[in-house]
Amino acid sequence: MENLIRVIKAADAAARWHVHQRRKGADREPYIKHLLEDASLVTVATEGREPDLTVAALQHDAIEDQGISAEEITKEFGQKVVAVVMEVTDDKSLPKAERKRLQVENAGKKSREAKLIKLADKTSNLRAITNSPPPDWSVERRKQYVQWAKDVVANVRGLSPWLEQQFDDAAERAMQSVNVPIPM
Ligand code: ZN
Repeated sequence: MENLIRVIKAADAAARWHVHQRRKGADREPYIKHLLEDASLVTVATEGREPDLTVAALQHDAIEDQGISAEEITKEFGQKVVAVVMEVTDDKSLPKAERKRLQVENAGKKSREAKLIKLADKTSNLRAITNSPPPDWSVERRKQYVQWAKDVVANVRGLSPWLEQQFDDAAERAMQSVNVPIPM
């Protein structure tokens, strides 16, 4: 019961922290959808046995996107959760291209928990690109994103065949959707 309370409190905090954030896709979906999708994927992958992982997945973009402090997450959810969140937080002082390069380079060095969250993150992002691509993204940019996601994920494989299959399916569908000609 204690873990159930922690998880639902983490979902509630995520909904509050990201309340005004939306996905970049044409549908402008509320960002909480991405956080719940990531948390759902890692929770199913671990059969619900790792509540700290579920909580960290719900908070994984809180520092990077909303500037929530590590202290606040520690106070509410503990040291173990914040350590994983920090691992999946990009250094925003770096240029975007460099951050993307570092994600590929560093993914393999992360903890198991951080790798699972990354894998779920890229799965969720590829599904979003298929279902509701950002209107200003060219076909080329979408293809490049799919390839970059594959490059990151190549370094986090070997932990969950089920979650890898979710990613592979999402990548395949994303490429198929990109290759559908735009109606004239
Ligand atoms: Zn994310």
